[in-house]
Amino acid sequence: MAERLRLMAVHAHPDDESSKGAATMAKYVAEGVDVLVVTCTGGERGSVLNPKMDRPDVWADIGQIRRAEMDAARAILGVEQAWLGFVDSGLPEGDPLPPLPEGCFALQDVEVAAGPLVRLMRQFRPHVVTTYDEEGGYPHPDHIMTHKISVAAFEAAGDPERYPELGEPWQPLKLYYDIGFSKGKIMALHEGILAAGLESPYGEWIKRWEDRPDKGPRITTRVECSDYFPVRDDALRAHATQIDPDGFWFQVPMELQKRSWPTEDFELVRSLVDSPLPESDLFAGVRETAHVR
Ligand SMILES: [Zn+2]
Repeated sequence: MAERLRLMAVHAHPDDESSKGAATMAKYVAEGVDVLVVTCTGGERGSVLNPKMDRPDVWADIGQIRRAEMDAARAILGVEQAWLGFVDSGLPEGDPLPPLPEGCFALQDVEVAAGPLVRLMRQFRPHVVTTYDEEGGYPHPDHIMTHKISVAAFEAAGDPERYPELGEPWQPLKLYYDIGFSKGKIMALHEGILAAGLESPYGEWIKRWEDRPDKGPRITTRVECSDYFPVRDDALRAHATQIDPDGFWFQVPMELQKRSWPTEDFELVRSLVDSPLPESDLFAGVRETAHVR
C-alpha cells in the first residue's frame, strides 16, 4: 500500500503560513497529503496591522490572541501545526538599527536552534520541506533565521551522527524555497487589474522594484492552486490582528487573480530524487519512490 505523502512548511510567525504557499498546502490537503506547518516563533513582537484590532485589550494579550488566530487558520487550511517555541525578534527599525532583543530567535545559535526542527522532521517524516530563501523572502531577522535552521535541519535530519538524541534519522527528499513575489507575477496582476479598468495597488511596488533583483528566474516549480485562493484568503483573515480585511491584499478581484497568475511558485534547491525541471508538483519524483520508503 502506498504511504501517505507528507509536506512540512517551515514559517517564522503565525500568519506567514497563510500568506506564503497557503493555497498550495490547501490543495495538497484536499488530495490527501499530510501537511505540517512549523511556526518558529509566537509572533509576540509583531505589530497590530488591522486598525480595528489596534486596541489596548488586544495589545495586552497579543501572544494568546495570535495563538488563537493560528488555531483558526490551521483549521481553515486543514493542516497540522506545531510551534518551535522561539521568541519573535521583532522587525528592527531606525538608523542605526537597534540591537535585537536578548534571547530572541534571530540571536540563537543555528546549530542549537535547528535541534527542535530536526526532532520534528524525524517525528513527522516529511518527504518535502518548504522554507524561505536566504534573504528570508522578506528581510525580517526571524525569516532569515527560519531559512538557516530549515536548511541545517534538512541536512542533519537523515544523518545518524547528528543530533543522535533527537530520534530516528529521516531524510526528506526535496527542499524548496517559497518564491512569493516575482516581477512576472506582479506585472501580470497589475496589467490584469488595469485591463479590468480598476485601480492597481501594485503601481508603487513596480516603481520601487527597478533596483531590486527579480527572483522570477529562480522559479523551478509552479503549483496550480487557484481553486484554493479563497481558502488562502479565509486563513489570512483568521489572523485578524495582522491583516486589514479592507487592505491591499483583498482589493484584487478573485477571478482576476485566478486568471492572471493561477500558481504559487517555488525554487527547488535540494533533491534526492529525479524530477526534471520545470515542475508543476512539489512531489514530482517523490510519488514514484515514497511507497518503498
Ligand atoms: Zn513573518
